[in-house]
Amino acid sequence: MQKVFDSAFFRDLGHKLVDKLADYLQITLSKQSDICIPWQPSSQMLEYWEKNLNFSGSGNIYEFLCKIIDSSVHIHDSRYMGHQVGMVAPVAALAGLVSDLLNNGMAVYEMGLSSVPLERIICQYFAKLYNLPSSADGFMTSGGTLSNITAMLTARQIKAEEDVWTLGQKKQKMAIMVSNQAHYCIERAVKIMGWGEKGIIKVPTDSNFKIKIENLEPLYKKAKIQGIKIIALVGSACSTATGSFDNLRKMGEFAKEYKLWFHIDAAHGGAAILSPKYAHLLDGTELADSITIDFHKMMMIPALASALLYRNSADSYKTFAQKADYLLSNNEDWQNPAARTFECSKFMMVVKIASLIHAHGLKAIKNYVETCFDNGKKLANLIKKEKNFELATEPQCNIVCFRLVYSFLSLEDTNRLNYYCRKQIVERGEYYILTTQINGKTFFRVSLMNYLTEENEFKGLISQIKHYANLWLKRQT
Ligand SMILES: *Cc1c(COP(=O)(O)O)cnc(C)c1O
Repeated sequence: MQKVFDSAFFRDLGHKLVDKLADYLQITLSKQSDICIPWQPSSQMLEYWEKNLNFSGSGNIYEFLCKIIDSSVHIHDSRYMGHQVGMVAPVAALAGLVSDLLNNGMAVYEMGLSSVPLERIICQYFAKLYNLPSSADGFMTSGGTLSNITAMLTARQIKAEEDVWTLGQKKQKMAIMVSNQAHYCIERAVKIMGWGEKGIIKVPTDSNFKIKIENLEPLYKKAKIQGIKIIALVGSACSTATGSFDNLRKMGEFAKEYKLWFHIDAAHGGAAILSPKYAHLLDGTELADSITIDFHKMMMIPALASALLYRNSADSYKTFAQKADYLLSNNEDWQNPAARTFECSKFMMVVKIASLIHAHGLKAIKNYVETCFDNGKKLANLIKKEKNFELATEPQCNIVCFRLVYSFLSLEDTNRLNYYCRKQIVERGEYYILTTQINGKTFFRVSLMNYLTEENEFKGLISQIKHYANLWLKRQT
């Protein structure tokens, strides 16, 4: 055991690892690395680690961690355009090291003497940015998924006509309304609550994948006739597939008129509030009863780090109103986060966020968001100039969906072609992009998470797509 806690061992390994990571950053950020994703078939990697993970504890840990670095996706590479995880600010990673070692569990103030107050300060600060009233506050959760289900549980407890938390759901059939483009975790939340398919009313979207406001009222009335009580309306800011921002103001007004809980899922787009150029996308946040934001998407914080903000702090204590006396003294008590979080122990996530802000200021996040969002437009403009390429929609942020189309190919073949190009590109490893299905069509989907990505990289990507498309087309004839 001695070696496990040997501070000299920690110091020595730590210095070497920080040097290694600094080298990684330096090479990657100066665009000198060969590839962004060292792609290998899963069976091959499984075999590698089966052989190389040393269960006896006599392995070389430095080499082990270097191998992890080398065989992972490099999000700091400007050709990274994959999933929506942010380009981590080094200071946030170091703060993570500090909080990981301290491991204060955050369930109660005593286990978060610094982090519990910081969490309150950050949540209230953001609540203010979204123009929520002074009654607002919130807490952090391990991810947007958990934040969203927590918000749905609060909505149910407040809007249901019975005390579902204590008595279970008796008679009332309930549902929520959300656009058909919402993140799948909303549907999961509904199904976990036991409402089944009927518990989620998916509102159609327009050609820009925004919820159709004019469909809200007829769908609400239809549900009412069927004996279903709609308790909440969820706005996407933005949707996951295409990055479309719902009209939050109109939704908020509707929710108010029909006395629904209005939740905004701003997991991805919430950071836009810091940018005068893009804050308009979030117009209407002051109407929300609750808001989810992910700091690990557009705010340079490692996953997971999310916040759930409440318009009325008091509402948040109703979600899990039960007695756990050994932990919690009284209910409306910000000092004891577990009173209102799903989690008991949780990461000291806020330390990473507060450290980033303390060292670089909110303007660093503003610049990051703006550059990435601007890049969405830049890529879209290049796509528009290309023959045989089409956009799914004009991008509103840094998520862009586009595809190849040839008039002589069937939809099925067009899908196959786009899928093939993406697969070849990822296996080659310079670019990391995704595909997504939209109305039965396969689109390339990129999230421009790296602020260093420039036109050069976009052109390189387009030329790789064309290269593989030509190969595919030749093979067909
Ligand atoms: C990413 C995302 C989620 C899920 O959040 P996690 O932090 O990955 O759990 C939910 N909603 C939206 C709109 C998202 O973009």
